[in-house]
Amino acid sequence: MIKVEDLRKTYRAGLVEVPALRGVSFEIDRREYVAIVGPSGSGKSTLMHLLGCLDVPTAGRYIFDGVEVSTLGEDELARVRNRKIGFVFQGFHLLPRLTALENVELPLVYRGVDATTRRERARRALEMVGLGARVQHYPNELSGGEQQRVAIARAMVGEPILLLADEPTGNLDSRTGAEVLDLFQGINDAGCTVIMVTHDLTAASRAKRILRIRDGLLEGDERV
Ligand code: ADP
Ligand code: MG
Repeated sequence: MIKVEDLRKTYRAGLVEVPALRGVSFEIDRREYVAIVGPSGSGKSTLMHLLGCLDVPTAGRYIFDGVEVSTLGEDELARVRNRKIGFVFQGFHLLPRLTALENVELPLVYRGVDATTRRERARRALEMVGLGARVQHYPNELSGGEQQRVAIARAMVGEPILLLADEPTGNLDSRTGAEVLDLFQGINDAGCTVIMVTHDLTAASRAKRILRIRDGLLEGDERV
């Protein structure tokens, strides 16, 4: 489902060039559950941004679901993101003025789904993450673990084929983090490919494959 070949990303900050990814190649099949680990600054988030079509590589190829995405324009990239990929971040990234339900509806708004269907699907997604009783709450009325579950419902409401998570348990205590990992397990069991960046060894051990990144290079690839 994913094939990257000699993927490179160099950031330019004024006159300084930062080579964040220096030629990474791997393949990931449908239904895999992969953890990406590595020291801070090694290029993990950069790789997630490329895999999630949030940014384009400086060089190299990225084929996702049969499409060479490195050649797509901004609109086509946005379409791939909206249709096929769900995102979960460390900081939740919920919109503070929208209720949990409205936050989860958002990806379907961009997709042009009608209001009744949207509400129904968002409600179901929130029930799936155990928040059926919190749909009218605003983010600041929810705990960190609940906010992350809203973010997971929002990521999954469009039924993506790929879930990308960047340090999803980074802001959570271990028990709440474990609940989030249980949800990921269920999402993967249901057939969705999951790729998760993590510092947390317990979290990484839940995945079936571990990719190690160091200094912008792939240092290891183990199946658990
Ligand atoms: P990680 O997620 O593993 O901590 P990142 O992918 O965030 O690593 O960063 C890799 C390197 O690229 C770091 O040296 C970081 O400072 C640099 N970097 C990341 N994003 C940018 C950016 N937008 N502009 C310039 N440098 C960046
Ligand atoms: Mg990072």
